[in-house]
Amino acid sequence: MFDLSTRDIKYLTGVGPQRASMLNKELGIFSLHDLLYYFPYKYVDRSHIYVVREIDGNMPYIQLKGEILSFETFGEGRGRRLVAHFSDGTGIVDLVWFQGIKYVTNKYKLHKEYLIFGKPTVFGGRINLAHPDIDETTDVKPTTMGLQPYYNTTEKMKRSFLNSHAIEKMMQTVVGQLKEPLPETLSPTILAEHHLMPLTEALINIHFPTNPDLLRRAQYRLKFEELFYIQLNILRYAKDRQRKYRGYLFRTVGDIFNTFYSQNLPFELTGAQKRVLREIRNDVGSGRQMNRLLQGDVGSGKTLVALMSMLMALDNGYQACLMAPTEILANQHYETISGLLHGMNVRVELLTGSVKGKKREAILKGLLTKEVHILIGTHAVIEDTVNFSSLGLVVIDEQHRFGVAQRARLWNKNIQPPHVLVMTATPIPRTLAMTLYGDLDVSVIDELPPGRKPIVTQHQYEARRKTLYGFIRKEIAIGRQVYIVYPLIKESEKIDLNNLEEGYLHITEEFPDCRVVKVHGKMKVAEKDAQMQLFVSGEAQILVATTVIEVGVNVPNASVMVIENAERFGLSQLHQLRGRVGRGADQSYCILVTGFKLGEETRKRLEIMTRTNDGFEIAEADLKMRGPGDLEGTQQCGVAFDLKIADIARDGQLLQYVRGIAQKVVDTDPTSTLPENEVLWRQLKALRKSNINWAAIS
Ligand code: ADP
Ligand code: MG
Repeated sequence: MFDLSTRDIKYLTGVGPQRASMLNKELGIFSLHDLLYYFPYKYVDRSHIYVVREIDGNMPYIQLKGEILSFETFGEGRGRRLVAHFSDGTGIVDLVWFQGIKYVTNKYKLHKEYLIFGKPTVFGGRINLAHPDIDETTDVKPTTMGLQPYYNTTEKMKRSFLNSHAIEKMMQTVVGQLKEPLPETLSPTILAEHHLMPLTEALINIHFPTNPDLLRRAQYRLKFEELFYIQLNILRYAKDRQRKYRGYLFRTVGDIFNTFYSQNLPFELTGAQKRVLREIRNDVGSGRQMNRLLQGDVGSGKTLVALMSMLMALDNGYQACLMAPTEILANQHYETISGLLHGMNVRVELLTGSVKGKKREAILKGLLTKEVHILIGTHAVIEDTVNFSSLGLVVIDEQHRFGVAQRARLWNKNIQPPHVLVMTATPIPRTLAMTLYGDLDVSVIDELPPGRKPIVTQHQYEARRKTLYGFIRKEIAIGRQVYIVYPLIKESEKIDLNNLEEGYLHITEEFPDCRVVKVHGKMKVAEKDAQMQLFVSGEAQILVATTVIEVGVNVPNASVMVIENAERFGLSQLHQLRGRVGRGADQSYCILVTGFKLGEETRKRLEIMTRTNDGFEIAEADLKMRGPGDLEGTQQCGVAFDLKIADIARDGQLLQYVRGIAQKVVDTDPTSTLPENEVLWRQLKALRKSNINWAAIS
């Protein structure tokens, strides 16, 4: 068979060792197969040459033919720009460059015929094309008329003339060799049922489409395939695991749960909490091992759900464990849960890195003898020295801080894996959750406890600090507490800490009657806890902190969250921080403080934050603005999104559609043996081999 993946790029006509090495290093292209799967990022319609008279600012990329009448430069230094007045006899447009001015003026001649490509926009009443592509008319052969592909290249490549045109030429050579079709990678049934273009045809048309319709069909086929295999991979793993592992069976809801429910529960559960508890109850009573992701916006009451699930384990003679990403949070869970279980005969222990010596030994022993029922802690609980007598349920709070590898370690603690409940307040858009955690079932708490007022979010410029302080003073006067948060980014940690210290001093001067505490990541744990405790107990009115407080801290009396340098935070982080207030019945406020000069992206983020409190809406917006690779959590999960053509943010619908198809394949062919699916399993195997990240997803 015709296997392009074994054919080294170096032997392709016009490549050679030097260019090959550059393609290896810059784009990760080694074989002809790699090259063929390097898709264009845009296409230019060469089938039509527009005239200036007919164009307006709403058109996509267009092509014009004419000459440059004159060059003109404007501005100085960074603001310098070059304008070429370009005419085709029907009118004049301005070609504009902000960079490479010298290069352009040297390269292009006045009154010579050029073909230019660009996106027209209207600026100052004139039509502009910024950084257009320019070709001499003699360079464009009639055969390339049609949609011309454009490929991304790096600066380094461009310097050695390995630009988009060069790649296009190589691609023509490879595509020319495709007279013999490549082995099909989807099954005949799927191709027929979903009207997909055959592989070879799709690959030819993704590079050299002769019309927009063929291009659309080629793109659809390739996106479909890419997303389909990601889903098939995850669902296949999930099925295997179901077949391989049995789960502990929690037969009853017994005394402990019921006593808690009737005597200790301080309030009525929300409808959403009840529903999620039922879902969990079904899982743990099914005989299958539970793997459930619980999504609930900040303040939705996930802790209680965690606790009550753990009580189910206890009722059935098992131990339970709750793992939190930070020590502050583990402490707080310990306090909350011990408090809630007051008067009940349940032993809860806290195990973190700072629990040492005799205390630690006692806990470890208690776990083995089953005297300790619930263990709460940080990463410390997954160390090898920690062993349980019978661990039935593990709850992981704030999933995105835990990698897949850590989840896997928990499994190894028992021969039979415990049930796993993963809780996250970073609402991951459903589409992304499916891709990331495809093996987890998803529950959502979509209802806040009653009586909460939506947080009022405002954007305030630094210059109006006096007004802000006046407002803070008023809130403190009526007994509320205030958070003031500073950004902390690793690269500039020193400067940031200075900012925090300065801010702290400033605040203590500004509010001489208040007790102000300070928390940051560089402090000793004990010191941090002591400061935090002063705020939790209400002795301190103002907490100045870096983002260490981002996750999970619960002080219902705090009603104001001030975020300094808000422009430096991402959307999901801002939302997390905001979630620290609005936890009691009082009206709460989030104030985003920035300087005057703001970029467009920042303005958009601030606009979204002030408009909505809905975590899911914010997560979707975040995904759209930043792309999935950047989304908090995805990196830590070890899943690098290396999508060649699909876009999780934009192709969410297609993703759901193909997931259904993949699910059907796995359900109807649980042992991967049906002849009609042979192609699919073979391709999946090949992909698993070549894509290391895929293994991490499961
Ligand atoms: P998160 O989901 O962010 O972890 P928590 O579990 O910390 O939220 O709960 C936030 C606050 O809401 C806590 O003070 C908790 O006691 C309270 N709470 C939880 N469930 C309810 C409920 N059903 N009714 C009233 N308050 C609740
Ligand atoms: Mg929480």
